[in-house]
Amino acid sequence: MTSLFTINCCKSFGCQNLGLASSPDYSWPEYRLGYAALHCRACGSYPPLFNEEQFRRWLSVYLADFAANSGYFCPRCYQRETIRYGHNPRGSQRVQCQGCKKVWTPKQPALTALVPPAQIATIPLIVPFQGVSSDQQLYVLLSFDAIRGKVLHISSNFTPHPVGSSLLYRWRDNAEPPVIHDDIIERVSQRETQFLRRSQFDEIQYGSAMLKRNANGAILRPVIAAHGHFRILSRLWPEVKTHIIAHECFLRGAVITAWAEQFCHHHASLWFIDEEINNDKRTLPWQLLGNTWQGWWQNQWQIWQQGNTRKMVCLLTEGQVEKGASITLAAGHHFLAWLQQQTEFQQSPRYSAHSVFQAIRSLADKYNAFIEKR
Ligand SMILES: [Zn+2]
Ligand SMILES: [Zn+2]
Repeated sequence: MTSLFTINCCKSFGCQNLGLASSPDYSWPEYRLGYAALHCRACGSYPPLFNEEQFRRWLSVYLADFAANSGYFCPRCYQRETIRYGHNPRGSQRVQCQGCKKVWTPKQPALTALVPPAQIATIPLIVPFQGVSSDQQLYVLLSFDAIRGKVLHISSNFTPHPVGSSLLYRWRDNAEPPVIHDDIIERVSQRETQFLRRSQFDEIQYGSAMLKRNANGAILRPVIAAHGHFRILSRLWPEVKTHIIAHECFLRGAVITAWAEQFCHHHASLWFIDEEINNDKRTLPWQLLGNTWQGWWQNQWQIWQQGNTRKMVCLLTEGQVEKGASITLAAGHHFLAWLQQQTEFQQSPRYSAHSVFQAIRSLADKYNAFIEKR
């Protein structure tokens, strides 16, 4: 049984231990790859170990805070079955959990019921903010309903909650060179090389992110933010069939852990994607140009072409490879194009990490309302 809080587990698709918190096949810590890892003897993998206690403490506050605000699930037991439970003296709707009977008043209750997405597409975005100096960088994750185009959830690696030191981002002044190759196959290959150059696969160095002196909150390792991000989404929608993620190996680890049971039972599929932005309004069909095998794991990538634009997709789990043509980041590209035109967003280098994140979140609400009216 996968627990909401499990993070130290096998993350290999096809392994019987995928997502399991304990197994006789596990031994840890193992230092064979130069960092503390869990070794899964069943598949031979060495996923990096986390401080589970610190992760659990941060995640429980993060989930409870999200639930208390939105009312989507219980802030105490995280169950989704809730009923309306009268109003508080100020007239706001109260909610009761059907599991533990907790009653609370969501601060920003959802106006409409959640429509379960068939596909979730997720991309990272690095945004400047004003910290100890200007040009500090915030790591933001954006998830979309890949078909309807709405923003489903946004998180960043700024957290207002208390965090243990093992979860904090540490900038070593050693940025990964940006991957900007024109050729899409080269780009995918370069990124795979970058993953291997990291001190461990999930330890991205994306830039300096120091908050102002005496500022509240902290900056998390992006991998921790990703685990929190997908735990919220998997709580809201445990049965999503298709997951699409930008080509980043720790996003794969976070998604596969959050929906481990679905992947084990072959109820869901997970795709990596690299897609060029297509400004061509014509709707030409995608054509499969061929396959290429990339990276340490020699994953099979499909190369697709539509007019002058290309995309590459890689099925990381069980699924129908012929669906490759329909896998797209278009929802994310549309939102980013819109976001970059918004003054509040353009001014992000002048504001604190917390304010920048709040601004992106309220812009996303505005965008969703705009999409719904179309
Ligand atoms: Zn395994
Ligand atoms: Zn409850």
